[in-house]
Amino acid sequence: MDYKKISLSLLEWYDQYARKMPWRGIQDPYKTWVSETMLQQTRVDTVIPYYLRFVSRFPSAAELAKADEAEVLKLWEGLGYYSRARNLHRGARQIMEQYQGVLPSDPVLLRKISGIGPYTAGAVASIAFGVPVPAVDGNVLRVYSRLFGIRESILIPAVRKNLEKIAADMVPADRPGDYNQAVMDLGATVCVPGTPNCKRCPLSVFCDAGKRGDASDLPVIPGKAPQKVVVMTVAVLRSDNGFLLRQRTESLLKGMWCFPLLDCRPENAPDYLKRKMQLELLSAGAVIHARHVFTHLIWEMDILPAEVPSDVPAPADYQWIPADALDSLPMPAAMNIPLETARNFLR
Ligand code: SF4
Repeated sequence: MDYKKISLSLLEWYDQYARKMPWRGIQDPYKTWVSETMLQQTRVDTVIPYYLRFVSRFPSAAELAKADEAEVLKLWEGLGYYSRARNLHRGARQIMEQYQGVLPSDPVLLRKISGIGPYTAGAVASIAFGVPVPAVDGNVLRVYSRLFGIRESILIPAVRKNLEKIAADMVPADRPGDYNQAVMDLGATVCVPGTPNCKRCPLSVFCDAGKRGDASDLPVIPGKAPQKVVVMTVAVLRSDNGFLLRQRTESLLKGMWCFPLLDCRPENAPDYLKRKMQLELLSAGAVIHARHVFTHLIWEMDILPAEVPSDVPAPADYQWIPADALDSLPMPAAMNIPLETARNFLR
């Protein structure tokens, strides 16, 4: 495969669709380090307010190094994985002692700093210093397993090594930081776990798994603890008022907007909607299946597009959202295919 063509396609896509984040577009290795540390195991939306508070109180490694650990932990409160905060604090002191407050650009030296592993070292070196090294995490392994059709277990050291070599060879010399962030964005928004949104993918013409249609089976990770499977119907309901959505209050995806998630099979959805939400369907389209994989949970979703009358008020907790406002709502990756279904509904 032509790596250069792939990286150019991905960078073109990134230039158009890069997610906006407060730590992007600034040349400050300390802030890149803080953001990448906070982003480990944590969603971007959750991180943003914590990041802004943290760098406002500790704008540099020097300020962080001077702080009490209790204050650092207080600012981290609610973000979880508190060892990250302790390591960051320890790392800031190390940077003051060994590097006069300035993070080194060499990924080998970065890895010697408390809490900085291979991924964060690659991210900081490439994003903040323009060093052409990869930042390999689960997203990257998933994207490259699919793109290059790697159908062996990524737990086998030789397979993993091969993927890491691919990742290293793919990074372009001229925009390594943007490229690494483009792979992260692709993995988080398009080439997501479960069913990826190949129709919206800038790499679909190159992608082995996309062409073969087995992307949702990749990467191969045998022996993983079985995840709980939740089967549901996602009702993409349209009226002249727009689409029906609800902002979640549950701890999973709290604050994110979802189409109605019905605890029934699609054939029972008309009855379910009538009984529980007082909504009559005028017509329904073909059901599409999609799967979304969370860490401990899989959503098996049958997506049912349907029309409802326009004079019906939104059921409690739901809102009619005009079609042109859909893109401005924070929606989880699990809603990618339902959102695509809604867009197709408008054509
Ligand atoms: Fe992932 Fe599909 Fe793109 Fe391949 S075509 S990289 S599977 S989203």
